[in-house]
Amino acid sequence: MLTDYHVHLRSDDIEATPAERFLTAANADSYRLVASERGIAELGVSEHVYRFRQALDVWDHPLWQTYARDDLDDYCAFVREETDLRLGIEADFIPGREDRMAQLLADRDFDYVVGSIHFVGEGALDYDAYDIWSTGTSPERVWRTYFEWLGRAAMSGLFDILAHPDLVKYWGAQRPRPERDLRHFYELAMEGIAESGIAVEVSTAGLRKPVGELYPARAFLEMVLDAGNPIALSSDAHAPDDLGRDYEQALALLEDLGVTQLAVFERRERRLEPLG
Ligand SMILES: [Zn+2]
Ligand SMILES: [Zn+2]
Repeated sequence: MLTDYHVHLRSDDIEATPAERFLTAANADSYRLVASERGIAELGVSEHVYRFRQALDVWDHPLWQTYARDDLDDYCAFVREETDLRLGIEADFIPGREDRMAQLLADRDFDYVVGSIHFVGEGALDYDAYDIWSTGTSPERVWRTYFEWLGRAAMSGLFDILAHPDLVKYWGAQRPRPERDLRHFYELAMEGIAESGIAVEVSTAGLRKPVGELYPARAFLEMVLDAGNPIALSSDAHAPDDLGRDYEQALALLEDLGVTQLAVFERRERRLEPLG
């Protein structure tokens, strides 16, 4: 089986992607069609939590205030009633707001929750507005905090899948990077990842970003597999044609590392299915 769980039904262009045009059965069908062409049987959607007004009960970052336009319960009802897709959501780990996020998630019957870190404090890792890299914080500090938080995100119990686990590398050579061996930073997340047993995402999205690499780096993935965590495979598509994109690269890496199963989710229960 192949999966694509970390999937968005629209781009991140807030003005161009109103719910009434993109959270539709016709749009969902176009994703399902491409998925079947590419042999992806297990398909779910995971819109960004911050596109929903209810997210402002969790955090009030100015970016979230700009993006929080849609109703979360309408989204859940749409996916359940008008599509055959798994119902997921991409939720941010916001330290100090775990209880509020837990409440938001517990109130809905998701199949899975994809957990992400896009912000370290007020600064964005992968978005040039609110860019953390222009605040004067050292790259060592950003990377350290990112991976410490990743371990905490795993341990929070909020999430089923840890998304794009080394997103901090997003900009590649366009932003400063720590000098030392990056495994030093990965190590900071591993205790939480191992202890939580959370599924860790292998995402082809990084290949489409400035860094031009899979998320996560091979060395990170090796540590995750040593810890015994299951793997979730996704493309982080924001358009139908990005579904399953570059999976041959992800599958080659997974095969090389001896991964034979993928995590599959239903109503937040996880099972493992043979990969392929
Ligand atoms: Zn993300
Ligand atoms: Zn995403």
